[in-house]
Amino acid sequence: MHAFIIGIGDELTLGQTVDTNSSWLSEQLMALGIPVLAHLVVPDDRAATAAAIRQAAAAAELTIVTGGLGPTQDDLTRDALADAAGAPLEERPDALAAVAAWFKHHQRTMSASNRVQALCPRGSDWLDNDCGTAPGLRVRIGQATVYAFPGVPREMKSMFLRHLAPTLAAQSGRVILTRTIRTFGEGESQLGERLGELMRRGGNPVVGTTVSLGVVSVRVRSEASTLAEAEAALQATVAEIQTRLGELIYGADDDTLARAVGRLLKERGMTLATAESCTGGGVAAQITDIPGASAWFRGGWVVYSNALKTSALGVPTELIAKDGSVSESVARAMAAGALARGGADCALALTGIAGPDGGTVDKPVGTVWIALAMPGAGGPPVITAQRVLFPGDRAAVRDRAGKTALNMLRQALLRGGGA
Ligand code: ATP
Repeated sequence: MHAFIIGIGDELTLGQTVDTNSSWLSEQLMALGIPVLAHLVVPDDRAATAAAIRQAAAAAELTIVTGGLGPTQDDLTRDALADAAGAPLEERPDALAAVAAWFKHHQRTMSASNRVQALCPRGSDWLDNDCGTAPGLRVRIGQATVYAFPGVPREMKSMFLRHLAPTLAAQSGRVILTRTIRTFGEGESQLGERLGELMRRGGNPVVGTTVSLGVVSVRVRSEASTLAEAEAALQATVAEIQTRLGELIYGADDDTLARAVGRLLKERGMTLATAESCTGGGVAAQITDIPGASAWFRGGWVVYSNALKTSALGVPTELIAKDGSVSESVARAMAAGALARGGADCALALTGIAGPDGGTVDKPVGTVWIALAMPGAGGPPVITAQRVLFPGDRAAVRDRAGKTALNMLRQALLRGGGA
């Protein structure tokens, strides 16, 4: 079986929205062993959409269309499907009841325009949508089956996983399991050397790396005829990768460095405070994205001006005058201040030059001092500091600085607390 994917919408052809639906669907289909022949993107135009559906149905047994199922005049997927199938649209009472039930359940008033969402080409099946109003459609065109899902990614994903993935998995007779291992701290090529022959082409499980925003991800794909075999092979490869990469690994799949830090702090019953200058609260934002972070995060300061570094965190003015605000001594004093004033067990402090202006010969753009305060063994806290020079633009420097700080804390916790 082969598949074709069609994304519909003016916002896609105008470049205002990136067609992430098609890339997600391709990944899912690949995992089910179904090659995707092509992605097509067409505007909100009935004739163009019908032509794309005809082209897809002639080329592949499976076509997935996303978008254009809403109630407005520019939502024309239903009409285009009817044109391509040569079948008139008819209102389905059960589909209409499902749309009405959605509005009732969400205590919203159904407008007259929503009625068009119950229109289906004669002979097609409608598919219920548990996250929104637009039902999906399944239509036979010649030898091909065409699925139409709403454009909203959350709705599309839920419908694909409920209405199509189980059927495809049953048909393919193959089980494909994937795991993505997330690492931070070493480049892709160094990681590739550590992984060695695990990355050989054509292997099973197949192992590959990708890099995004400083995170190197190791993707493992295990294929077998039974779930048990695929799972066993996946586990064995993941275990081998863990042996080779050790502490560089901070998690899997959707994990983040902040989550990894949170898990370790929680396990140890420890708390954290942050003091941020160049990252402007970015580290605290990543932390507070995590539900339940209040169990281990005391809070943080955004101390952008020198005056606030002193008044909020007690950084001595002489230190700032002598060494400058981007310096080891100031980073250390910020960490000490956050630790004491935040009443936390650990503190992270960042001060740096994110650019594009403000760099000097001694302290070029991208220079960031990161300080980490950890409990000392029975004595006063131990503060370590690290100077890093990050490449890239302002956003990249800020992002990488935050991740490096979280990773410093993670590694210190793994190594037993104080530095
Ligand atoms: P609704 O019933 O919610 O109107 P719909 O089927 O009409 O659903 P669209 O109006 O085409 O869907 O798209 C809704 C939103 O979903 C778009 O504004 C866009 O943000 C997002 N979207 C649509 N298609 C894609 C796509 N291919 N990739 C990523 N996002 C998309």
